[in-house]
Amino acid sequence: MAVLITGIGELTTNDEELGTITDAAIVFDGPTIAWAGPAAAAPDADERVDVEGRAALPGWVDSHTHLVFAGDRTAEFEARMAGQAYSAGGIAVTVEATRAATDAELTANLRRHVAEAARQGTTCLETKTGYGLTVADEARSARIAAAVADEVTFLGAHLVPPGAEPESYVDLVCGEMLDTVAGSVRWADVFCETGAFDEAQSERVLRAAARRGLGLRVHGNQLGPGPGVRLAVRLGAASVDHCSHLSDWDIEALASSNTVATLLPACDLSTRQPLAPARRLLDAGATVALATNANPGSSYTTSMNFCVATAVLQMGMSVEEAVRAATLGGARALRRTDVGVLRPGARADLHVLDAPSRTHLAYRPGVPLTWQVWRKGSRVA
Ligand SMILES: [Zn+2]
Repeated sequence: MAVLITGIGELTTNDEELGTITDAAIVFDGPTIAWAGPAAAAPDADERVDVEGRAALPGWVDSHTHLVFAGDRTAEFEARMAGQAYSAGGIAVTVEATRAATDAELTANLRRHVAEAARQGTTCLETKTGYGLTVADEARSARIAAAVADEVTFLGAHLVPPGAEPESYVDLVCGEMLDTVAGSVRWADVFCETGAFDEAQSERVLRAAARRGLGLRVHGNQLGPGPGVRLAVRLGAASVDHCSHLSDWDIEALASSNTVATLLPACDLSTRQPLAPARRLLDAGATVALATNANPGSSYTTSMNFCVATAVLQMGMSVEEAVRAATLGGARALRRTDVGVLRPGARADLHVLDAPSRTHLAYRPGVPLTWQVWRKGSRVA
């Protein structure tokens, strides 16, 4: 079944040859893009949808979320907005609620948030374990995530659980826990930060995961300067996420590596941290991704539109750069070539805005501009 979407006023493809096309059309053949180009040259299809001059772009690729959780941290958020500092320790509150929840509750909560993201244009989503922190709870988190999300990351090294001794907990993460989850996940991650895991502990976790064939990601340089970026680059991680506090050396290291700098502006705002230095990274030539970091503690939003608007209005990114970072940048952070781009052979994931151009995402901040969302060739919103 081929679907022709035509009347696209502005089509952002992220493809080097196709570029941005005005008066465009795109053809889906089942879950895959068959053709994209000027509407006047479009081939026939079984079904025709006219979007009447609206702008379209690849579906958002949200490469960083933590959505296998239960519970609520409204009180912690209120305290933070009243002046209390953010610390990694709040994670323990969600760990307790997640352990107490049933599989059905965790699955329903994850599905609800993934559907909420899809309604806002997110068509490819990564999520993590990390609120279980026992072998059994991490294993079920990974299993639940694998049934729902496009990409799953093992984050047993999110926090040393209360009562555990740090070095023996790292042994558990690198040993039995990793062995148990490895079949359900593609990635491993570590929270390399004061109050979580130091550089040596983080390196142990990442090297163990690499030996199991998992790709690497790092939470780094969130709450202050630190070794996270250095470690990620040194071990060839696909991305280092947060990057709010970067030295010139960190920026140079990222620019001369394949490690993507994933920026999480909603988290920076929600924890009252400085926004990440997007302009310095881009000017140095680093690859930048934007993601939500959706989680109940430090960034409780699934809105990539909000992240893009913030990146433009407050981080010095152009609209083109921000849209690219939230689509192609996320795909690069997940080392995928089938999403974040609109070209024949790519996944048929399309985000149609109720606006004539992508510029409206920042020009009209906070306005719900998502009009239609197609994922794998089917309309999901
Ligand atoms: Zn995170």
